[in-house]
Parts: sequence; structure tokens; C-alpha cells
Amino acid sequence: MEFLSQSPNTLGCASGSWKIWSLSDGYVDLPAEFLGYPNNKIARQTEAPQGDGSLVRLSVNCFLFDRPGIGRVLIDCGAGSSWEPSMGHLGDAMAEAGIDTSSITMVALTHAHGDHINGLLTPDGRRAFNNLSKIVIGEDAVEGFLAEPNLAEFRPLLAPINGGDRLADHLLAVAIPGHAPGHMGYLLSTDEDEILFCGDLIHVPAEQFARPELTWAYDDDESMARASRIKLLQDAAHAHNWLAGAHLGRPGIGRVVEEGRGYAFIPAA
Ligand SMILES: [Zn+2]
Repeated sequence: MEFLSQSPNTLGCASGSWKIWSLSDGYVDLPAEFLGYPNNKIARQTEAPQGDGSLVRLSVNCFLFDRPGIGRVLIDCGAGSSWEPSMGHLGDAMAEAGIDTSSITMVALTHAHGDHINGLLTPDGRRAFNNLSKIVIGEDAVEGFLAEPNLAEFRPLLAPINGGDRLADHLLAVAIPGHAPGHMGYLLSTDEDEILFCGDLIHVPAEQFARPELTWAYDDDESMARASRIKLLQDAAHAHNWLAGAHLGRPGIGRVVEEGRGYAFIPAA
């Protein structure tokens, strides 16, 4: 992987004939007590409790890749105007990187939580990507997507998939169960690298690489999320693959190495 460009909200890389961008949608501050939360209670509430001043900042990252002759694929599309004003800035990041939103033909969603899907619409309710023809989504995530009333117009574009499905020669869907129904990773194999876009495998990188057993309050099935995290970190460390995560600290892409009884994350730049 070779680094081509960096700006406050973007990172551009090349891997063989591919180009890969990390694009910031912004960030969200959430109570630190969400980490290791024991009974998954918060995940059942619609409104997160206010923090007591002890907050953790989660980056919200989207990723884009392409190769000449193949349409651009966007992995997740941020929060749009559905959550805090500190999020929903994917369009600005694309402008910063010189990426025309109309060049996006396919979006692949890791899951149907609001900070990953609502960026399909601009804050004023228009389609963010006017040449979008396909939205790849885990079959079990479709129900959650359709529960978002603003997004009903995208129903005809949904292309449900399952873990193990090959979306193209170079792109494999990888089930990462636990965080949310139908939570899906996407493994891109370039001529030089393997890059796993792993969605919400990790929420608090400063803690969960060292202690992958720690769960996050929004994990739908805590023990499954924990098992997925432990296995994927082990695999990524052994295979020297790249991980690109929605909530890893900017730029959200890097490698995993074993450290002590857990792991450490080496960001790409
Ligand atoms: Zn998320």
C-alpha cells in the first residue's frame, strides 16, 4: 500500500492498480461507560443517556475504492443529518478529496445502524449519490434498513447478500456477526494487499485492541461480537492484512500486531 495524499478528513492510498480512500464523516462523543457495559441495556434504548463528562470520541469513517474500468464502491455512507451535527460530513470529505459524488455507483453497507446508512440522503433530503444503482447489504440487515422511513425510496436498489458471497473477483462478503443483525465485512483483494472493511468490529480502539474481550453497549449480541472481534484480530495479525474500520481513529485504516496479551493497531499514516 502506497500513500498518495492526506488532508484533514481524507487519506488516499494506492494498492496495485487500485485506489482506496478513507473519508471522514465526522465523529461522535459517547459515554465511556458504554465500553464493557454489562447487560446490553443501552442498546435497547432509543436515546443514549447523557454522559457525566467522561466521554470517548468515536471517529466515523467511510471508505471508497476503485480501479480504472470498475465503478466506484463506497463502504458505508455516514450519519447524514440523522444524529449529531458533528457527523454527516462525508460530502465535504469527498469534495476535499476531489471525488465527484455522482461517480459512486455502488454502496456496500456493513450494517443498518443510523451512522452508516443515513448519508444516502443529503441534509436537505436529496439523494447524495445520483448515479447509485446498487446497495449491497447483509440479508439480515434489510429489515433494519427498511425501518428507517426516510430511506424507503432506496428499497429497489437493495441487493441482499450473505457472508461468503463473492461480489466480484476481487471482493468477498465476510460475515462478522454480533454487533448488529447482518453485520458484514468486505474483503478487497488487490494485486498487492488484502484489506478488510470491518464495520463496527471495534468502537474504542484505544481499549479494544489491547482488550478485545470488551464489548460495546450497542453490540446486539455481546458474546458473538466478542468472539468475532477476537477471531478477526487474530486472523488480521497473522495474515498481516489491513483493517479499515468505521470507528477506528483517523484515518481508520492500518495493520494489527500482537502486543502483550492483546493487539495493537498501527495506523496507515
Ligand atoms: Zn457504527
